Amino acid sequence: MHVVTTLSPPTVSRSGRLAVHAVPMAKDNLGWLLVAGDEAAGIDGPEATSVLKACRELGVRLTTVLNTHTHPDHIGINRGLLERTPELVALGAPDPSIPGALTIVGPAAVAAQVPGLTQGVEGGQTITFAGHEGRVLTTEGHLAGHVSFVFEDLAFTGDSLFTGGCGYLFTGPPAAMHEGLARLAALPPETWIFCAHEYTEDNLRFALSLEPGNLALRERVARVASVRREGRATVPERLAVELDTNPFLRTHAPELVASVARALPDLPLTTALEIFTATRRLKDLKRYREG
Ligand SMILES: [Zn+2]
Repeated sequence: MHVVTTLSPPTVSRSGRLAVHAVPMAKDNLGWLLVAGDEAAGIDGPEATSVLKACRELGVRLTTVLNTHTHPDHIGINRGLLERTPELVALGAPDPSIPGALTIVGPAAVAAQVPGLTQGVEGGQTITFAGHEGRVLTTEGHLAGHVSFVFEDLAFTGDSLFTGGCGYLFTGPPAAMHEGLARLAALPPETWIFCAHEYTEDNLRFALSLEPGNLALRERVARVASVRREGRATVPERLAVELDTNPFLRTHAPELVASVARALPDLPLTTALEIFTATRRLKDLKRYREG
């Protein structure tokens, strides 16, 4: 069963013209449906059936897929749409053999690994969905080519910036993740962060082990626990909240630096990148789960 059992109302963008609906998939994946008028874009996901069912319930057509990166639980949606089984056709899957029926946007850097890619993109470019312009940001480090998509005040960050944390560094280097997080952190603080997994509660457990004196963090921990008790998603979250509580955006926080220094006394902790790198390494040790 999915960790999210109760859906929250959609998030509406600043202009009121875009809405985002959660599509829980697999165990803890959060696919997102970006809806404008009667069109929908599916952002990441391990399979296509749940996404098409959500489209049918909302009365919208899936015309676009946006892939942040090429892990199977993010491009599985592409494979499903391209295979287009009778079940998916019955649910209204667009026919990718018809030009323009399905736009698949993904990282140009790893184009060969994005099934059905029709538009390769890289950081700094703009894309258009249903007449709405979005921006592409380079957010590598979790995986080579990883990008994030920003429409108005909605940021789709895949497995780069998580609510309360950040993704594993599979390809790295740490500097790539650090730079990507800095790009996201520079967005307006009211921006909503849509990441691709429901990991917030565990992420905040680690955060609290580093900054027990952070009042905003303590309040967030209590709020997230309450939301999770109701089976609801803790994503999206405002960037402002991440800046106040996410340890991977807080290399300037003295209590966090002191905690990391105590735990990993042999690592250099002078620059922001060194503090980020040590913080990520400390989380990978998973000691915070033992207490
Ligand atoms: Zn991933």
